[in-house]
Amino acid sequence: MSTLDCCAPKPSLTFSTTCPACGTSGKTVKLVTLKALLTPVALATLDPDEAYRFCPDATCDVVYFGSKRVYRQADVKVPVFQKNQDFRVPVCYCFGHTRADLDTATRNGQADTIPSSIQAHIKAGRCGCELNNPQGSCCLGNVNRTLSALREASHA
Ligand SMILES: [Zn+2]
Repeated sequence: MSTLDCCAPKPSLTFSTTCPACGTSGKTVKLVTLKALLTPVALATLDPDEAYRFCPDATCDVVYFGSKRVYRQADVKVPVFQKNQDFRVPVCYCFGHTRADLDTATRNGQADTIPSSIQAHIKAGRCGCELNNPQGSCCLGNVNRTLSALREASHA
């Protein structure tokens, strides 16, 4: 055994936190997110004892990965915001705000109305991100980032 062995990352640990296809580290998603969003055929292969993570990389086709298998965009019932740049893709999945909606609001000088309406829904307990959003968590960061990008583009 060499002296370096103790400092090397454990292979199992590395594999479970980074996407096996692109190497991007992914956040854990709840099993219920996969149960809600996988296609019937993909869901039939789900291992409920496995921990799954979401790959956020825009150019990688893998959406979810576990230690034994991955699920790709074709295995998910909805287009994935991070991986599909189409204007009809939702940024907020719960309340159906697409990139096009955010773009229209920005052009009309009403960019803030969408995030504040989402915030009001969150406060009222209506958000269902873990069931609706492929990333399994709140969309507000994506909404704000998309709005700033649109704002920058409109000033360019
Ligand atoms: Zn990936």
